[in-house]
Amino acid sequence: MSKVMLITGASRGIGAATAQLAAERGYALCLNYHHREDAAHQVLHEAQRLGVQAIAVQADVSREDEALDLFTALDREFGRLDVLVNNAGMLERQLRLEQMDAARWNRVLGANVIGSFLCAREAIKRMSTRHGGHGGAIINLSSAAARLGAPGEYIDYAAAKGAIDSMTLGLAKEVGGEGIRVNAVRPGVIYTDIHASGGEPDRIERVKTSVPLGRGGAAREVAEAILWLASEGASYTSGALLDVSGGR
Ligand code: NAP
Repeated sequence: MSKVMLITGASRGIGAATAQLAAERGYALCLNYHHREDAAHQVLHEAQRLGVQAIAVQADVSREDEALDLFTALDREFGRLDVLVNNAGMLERQLRLEQMDAARWNRVLGANVIGSFLCAREAIKRMSTRHGGHGGAIINLSSAAARLGAPGEYIDYAAAKGAIDSMTLGLAKEVGGEGIRVNAVRPGVIYTDIHASGGEPDRIERVKTSVPLGRGGAAREVAEAILWLASEGASYTSGALLDVSGGR
């Protein structure tokens, strides 16, 4: 039977590229999205065209009831889970910290941190040998922002990704003896819609001079790292924070 991968935020950007590469490698796919049903169904149809079993499930992963419904849909369709890619994430308009309010911090931490914690919890219940599972892999999407801090742009987002790094380190130790590897990928500046959410669609053109490789990255280049961490080739890799940032 094919291995089953659940990708949150699979309708666009890095999540969609990961879905495409995973389908090419034969994974069965549970594709989560938030608002963009049209985009999610395009990704779904491409996976099905490649011959893999796949479903698309709408859920705001920052909401506990919706995250639970996502996993119920996964159970119904596949009855197993081998890989969770905690990819769903967002940022808001570029601001200095003293200009931000608590409602924004709740949204940013909710989508980036609580959503990843909820999905990791549900994945562990299904994967852990402690709960009768067969093990698996969790890959969290952190960001180079976790170590750069994103001053003048979105320190809240950077701090949320810092929390993802800490969760990755702790969880890798907590469930390593139960057959589960936990790792994070920390992309640098990648060509996706996320920069427009910050109010600067061309942000990469401004910051790419600070990237040693001299360019922004493609979503598929991040997907390659995610698929490697999911694979048997990474069987002794856990608790790693893998920078995919062109050396920045
Ligand atoms: P993107 O193009 O903006 O896509 C974001 C995806 O996340 C979309 O599929 C969106 O769904 C989904 N999403 C957002 N909030 C959600 C929620 N509450 N529940 C479920 N799904 C949600 O972003 P991206 O650039 O591909 O980023 C993917 C991940 O990589 C994020 O965690 C991001 O922080 C991280 N990252 C990106 C970069 C970069 O330069 N692009 C750099 C470092 C880290 P809808 O389309 O349905 O709204």
